[in-house]
Amino acid sequence: MAGLFQKILIANRGEIALRIQRACREMGIPTVAVHSTADAQAMHVRLADESVCIGPPQARDSYLHTAAILSAAIVTGADAIHPGYGFLSENAEFADMVEAHGLTFIGPSPDHIRMMGNKIAAKAAMASLGVPLVPGSDGEVLSLDSAREIAAEIGYPVLIKAAAGGGGRGMKVARTAGDLEEAWGTARAESRAAFGNDAVYMEKYLDRPRHIELQVLADTHGNVVHFGERDCSLQRRHQKLLEEAGSPVINEAQRAALGATVTSGLAQLGYRNAGTLEFLYQDGQFAFIEMNTRLQVEHPVTEMVCSVDLVREQIRIAAGEPLGYTQSDVRFTGHAIECRINAEDPETFMPTPGMVTAFHAPGGLGVRVDSALYAGYKVPPYYDSMVAKLIVHAPTRMEAIARLRRSLAEFAIVGIKTTLPLHQRIVEDPQFQAGDYTIHWLERFVSGQ
Ligand code: ADP
Repeated sequence: MAGLFQKILIANRGEIALRIQRACREMGIPTVAVHSTADAQAMHVRLADESVCIGPPQARDSYLHTAAILSAAIVTGADAIHPGYGFLSENAEFADMVEAHGLTFIGPSPDHIRMMGNKIAAKAAMASLGVPLVPGSDGEVLSLDSAREIAAEIGYPVLIKAAAGGGGRGMKVARTAGDLEEAWGTARAESRAAFGNDAVYMEKYLDRPRHIELQVLADTHGNVVHFGERDCSLQRRHQKLLEEAGSPVINEAQRAALGATVTSGLAQLGYRNAGTLEFLYQDGQFAFIEMNTRLQVEHPVTEMVCSVDLVREQIRIAAGEPLGYTQSDVRFTGHAIECRINAEDPETFMPTPGMVTAFHAPGGLGVRVDSALYAGYKVPPYYDSMVAKLIVHAPTRMEAIARLRRSLAEFAIVGIKTTLPLHQRIVEDPQFQAGDYTIHWLERFVSGQ
C-alpha cells in the first residue's frame, strides 16, 4: 500500500480520527493529527505519528479553520486530507482549497459535494436518474402562499425542510393548515441561523416510515458498488442512536433492486468515493431524502456484514486505484448493530462533559468498540457528545441482540453519565427485538408512552 500517499492529515477528532488513523497505519501511511488546545490530551493526538495544534477550543477556530488545517498539511508534508464526518467533510469550498493547493481531498469531487449539499439540487438530480422521491414541492418553496397551495395538493401533515439542512435542523412539521405559518417561519429562521441560508422545500410528512440508507463506493474508473442497507430508524430529534445492517424488513431482492437503481445512477453522475443515499421506507416503497457525500458515523455495521474496510477503500479510491471487485463479489454475512454512546444524561439528554474516572470496553467474539475515551480523559464541552460506538456482529439478528446485551452489560464508563442505560433498555424491549419500529418509535420509547 505504500506509494498511495506519502502522508495523510486527518482533519477531525475523537473516535473517527482514530478510526482513520488505524486504517492508515495498516496501510503503512503515516498520519498527521490536528487538534484544538482543548484536545491536547486527546487519544487521536496521543496515538498520532505527528500532531499540530490548529487553534483554540471552539470548532470554528480550529476544526473548521480551513486555513489552519491546510497550513498544517503543507508544513508537515501531507499530500492528502481525510475529513472524517461532520466538520469540513461536506464543505465543497474546503475540498476546492485542498485541490487548489495540489493536495488530495479524500472524498467526492467538490461539485458533487456542492450538489448533494443542497437538498433541492440533490433531489432534482436523483429524480432525473430514476430514483424515487418523497412526494413534495418541485424545488424551493418561495412564499407562504405557495407553501399553502403545495400542502393542499400533497395533503397534511407536511414537513418544511431547509435546503441546506443537516443534523435534523431547519425541519418543522405542520400537521394542519393552521400550523403552516408557524412551521414555515421557524424552519426558515432556524435554517438562517444554522446555515446562513433560508431556502426551504416541502415534503409529505410520512407517519410511519423507516430510515433506510444505502452505502456505495465509486472509483475513478467508472465502477460503482453498493454494500447494502443500514436501518437507522432509531432516532431522537432526527438524530440516529442505534443502527443495524441489514434492515430487519428488507429482503435480498429489494436490496438488489434499490442497489441497481442507485449504482447505475451514480455511475451516470460520475460520482466518486464513498456516499450514502438516505431513504424513507413505508408500505414497501423507498423514497429518497438526501445523500451524504462522506463516511458516516454508522459505517462500521456495513463493514462488519460485508468484511470491508470502508476507510481503506476511500483512500485507495482517492489515490486513483480501481475497486478491483464487482457487485457480485460483495457478500453479506450475518447481522450487525451499532449503539451510539453519548456523554449525555440518559433521561434528559443534557450533555455531561467531564472526567472519565474509569473505562472498561467490552470484548470477545464479534464485538467492536470505536471510542477515543480512556480513564483519566476529560470529555470537553465544546464538541459533539458522542464518545463511543459499540458494534456487534453475529450470524443472526437474535444472536446479535444477545451479544449486544452482554456487551452493554460489560461496558463501564465511570465518572460521567452516558446513554448506555438507554441502550440497555432498548435491547430488552420486545418491539425492538421483533424489529418492529419506525422513525417515531424511539421518541415514544424515551418519553415512556
Ligand atoms: P438531516 O440532513 O437534517 O439529517 P434528513 O432529510 O436526512 O435531514 O432527515 C432526517 C430525519 O428526519 C430522517 O431520518 C427522518 O427520521 C426524518 N424525516 C425527514 N424527512 C421526512 C419526511 N418527509 N417524513 C417523515 N420524516 C422525515
